Amino acid sequence: MGKALIIGAGGVASVVVHKCVQNSEVFEEIMIASRTKSKCDALKEKLDGGKTIIHTAQVDADNTEELIDLINGFNPDVVINVALPYQDLTIMDACLATKTHYVDTANYEPLDTAKFEYKWQWAYKERFEEAGITALLGSGFDPGVTGVFTAHAQKHHFDEIHYIDIVDANGGDHGLPFATNFNPEINIREITANGRFWKDGEWVETEPLEYKTVYNLPEIGEKDCYLLYHEELESLAKNIKGLKQIRFWMTFGEKYLTHLNVLENVGMTSIEPIEFQGQMIQPIQFLKAVLPDPATLGPLTKGKTNIGCIVRGMKDGKEKTYYVYNVCDHQECYREVGSQAISYTTGVPAMIGAMLVMNGEWQKPGVWNVEDFNPDPFMDALNKWGLPWHETENPELIDLEFTSAGEKA
Ligand code: NDP
Repeated sequence: MGKALIIGAGGVASVVVHKCVQNSEVFEEIMIASRTKSKCDALKEKLDGGKTIIHTAQVDADNTEELIDLINGFNPDVVINVALPYQDLTIMDACLATKTHYVDTANYEPLDTAKFEYKWQWAYKERFEEAGITALLGSGFDPGVTGVFTAHAQKHHFDEIHYIDIVDANGGDHGLPFATNFNPEINIREITANGRFWKDGEWVETEPLEYKTVYNLPEIGEKDCYLLYHEELESLAKNIKGLKQIRFWMTFGEKYLTHLNVLENVGMTSIEPIEFQGQMIQPIQFLKAVLPDPATLGPLTKGKTNIGCIVRGMKDGKEKTYYVYNVCDHQECYREVGSQAISYTTGVPAMIGAMLVMNGEWQKPGVWNVEDFNPDPFMDALNKWGLPWHETENPELIDLEFTSAGEKA
């Protein structure tokens, strides 16, 4: 069907490339372009020989002119941005200049402020409309599949959704004392930031990891879940009409939190630049350099992830509760594509989003979140491409008030 330019060559990009190659009828030709070309070449070497033609290139995705040259040279139908959130705007600028569709998995975050918000990318809406091209934002798992799950619940199960709890559980263990499952810098910035949830039309702010609850997850069991701010809360609070509350919960083990506390207390998670031996460095970037590369966790990680949405609302005049989730096995992912489940659950939806933009099913000039589109082809593709989902009615619920079910962590 066409050509995709994949920017980035890290954990998530590796899965995107594997999945595009599996889906060679759609992705006839791909280019992997990243800062370190040797990583792109290594991926090409591993996957060359199938029907998809693979090219590689070096690119600095902070540099719009370089990106424009690259896009003009390859002429892709879509750019899949799986570099870092810092590059979202430069890549969107290049897509505008070349009239190329855009897909990413994480919203823009300025390097010097740990504050991710859609406002910068939503501000491109009119320009994308005028250029006649689609930007699909946040097509990973969360954000991404969680928004598609919500749109599916809205379309097929509810007249009005009132409450959503998104629960992201990683029951996997890599056996290392401390490591993050995706880019450590992005991951730690997210977790050490203040928590936030949306209630009755307003944001309620919490201390970082201030509230926890215990939830019994299918195929994983009981886990401590901590309330975090997560980027899909912003778009879902805006897009789901009648919503009264939305919260996001993530599981963390005690060992992980103890390490994180110590690192925070000694200043290692700070993004404030300090002078070190005549050079300005951000402590968190130094920390990233000494932590295990998430891409190396694949062979070590055992266990499963479970990510899903617990939804409450009204159907045919009656109250209804509903749960939709995916369970993903780290070892199975490793056997299939050489990555653990966190990269897998992000890379598969990125490929699916790009496919739907390319085949026209999710093409609409402007800047959109996943829940703005018909969820059906995405839900079907999840089953086909490795992330089958399950749905149940009357699931266990998380108390709407913190005072009873939630406790101060
Ligand atoms: P990695 O750090 O493993 O990979 C990032 C890649 O981007 C690296 O190959 C890196 O190059 C490249 N890169 C960074 N800066 C530039 C630049 N200026 N120019 C060109 N290439 C650059 O990260 P992950 O694969 O773990 O994560 C990728 C994205 O996925 C992130 O945005 C992350 O937030 C998002 N994500 C989304 C999730 C979701 O569910 N929605 C879940 C997990 C991740 P180099 O190799 O040289 O360092």
